[in-house]
Amino acid sequence: MAAIKVKIATGIMILQYQRSRFSKNCISAICPLCNIEPEDMTHFILKCEKLSSIRNRFMQELKSLLVDCNKPPLLIQELFDDKENLLHLIIDCTSYHFLTYKEQVRIETLTRGLCYKLYHKRLLLMSEGREFRKSFSELVVLKSFFNNVPIACLSGTLTGKHINALSKQLLISNFKVLTCIITDLQSVQPRFRLVFTTTVVGMGFDPPSVTQVIHCKPPRSLTNYLQEIGRAGRRGQMSTATLYYTNMDLAKNLPGIQDDILCYCRHKACYRECLLEIFGYKKSSNSPEGCLCCSFCSLQCRCENCQLVRVVDEMNL
Ligand SMILES: [Zn+2]
Ligand SMILES: [Zn+2]
Ligand SMILES: [Zn+2]
Repeated sequence: MAAIKVKIATGIMILQYQRSRFSKNCISAICPLCNIEPEDMTHFILKCEKLSSIRNRFMQELKSLLVDCNKPPLLIQELFDDKENLLHLIIDCTSYHFLTYKEQVRIETLTRGLCYKLYHKRLLLMSEGREFRKSFSELVVLKSFFNNVPIACLSGTLTGKHINALSKQLLISNFKVLTCIITDLQSVQPRFRLVFTTTVVGMGFDPPSVTQVIHCKPPRSLTNYLQEIGRAGRRGQMSTATLYYTNMDLAKNLPGIQDDILCYCRHKACYRECLLEIFGYKKSSNSPEGCLCCSFCSLQCRCENCQLVRVVDEMNL
C-alpha cells in the first residue's frame, strides 16, 4: 500500500495530464475515466466522479478522525473546503503542525489506504473492455492500411464501456452504434427474418416473435439446449426447434459435452416428453399431438396431411 502512496507523493505516478505534456499534447489530457476535465493529481484524488465512492468513504473517516482528535470544527471545515490544503494533507500530512505525531500516523494510514484504492479502481476502470474480443482491437492494423474504408464491428453484447474502449483503441471518433439487431428482435414485428448467432443469445433475451430455433449441431448440455430453444414461442405461439447432428457431434470425448444431450440425440421416443421429463414436467392436456409434437411422433401420425405426404412419398413424386 505504501508503494503507491510514495509513487503519488514523489510524482512518479503518471496521470493523463502529464502524459499529454510529455507527448507535446498529441495525447489528450482529459481524464480517461470520466472524460470531464484534465486528469491531474487534484482531479484524480479529489474530483473524479468515477472514483467518488472510494473517496466519500475516506472523507467520512478522515472527518471523524479529526473530530475524534478534538480538532475545532471550524478548522476541520476550512480544511475540507480548501481543495489544495486537503490534497496536501492527503499526500503529506507531516507539515501540518496542528497534528501530533500520533495523529499524523493515523492520518497517514488512512491516506495510504485511499491512494491504494483509488489507484486500483482507476486501473480496473481503464482496463475494462480491453480484454473483450481482442480480435476487435486488431482491426487497427486493417484501418492503418485502409484508412477511409468504413469498418463494422458486429456484436450483440458490447456494453457502453466496451464501445468507449474500442473507439479509443481504434482511434475512431465517429463511432456509430447500431444496436438495431437486438432491439429489432425484441419488437413484436421484427424486420430481421434470419439471425445467425452464437450461444450468446441464450438466456435472458426475450424476442417475442421468434418461432424457429435451428441448431446446426448439439450444444454442450441439455440445459443449454432447453435455454436456447426457449427463445422461440415467447408469447405461447406455435414454434419449432430443429437440432441437426452427425455421429461426429456425439463423440464422448468432445470437450465439455454432457451425457444428457448425447442421450437426447439418440432418444427413440417422443422428444417433447423426454425434454419435459428430464426437467421434471409432464406433458399437459393441451400439448400438441402427432406431427405437431415432434419428429418422432410425426412418424406415427395418421392425420390427413401426414397420410397425403406418405402417399406422395410412396408414389415417388
Ligand atoms: Zn475523471
Ligand atoms: Zn412427440
Ligand atoms: Zn400429422
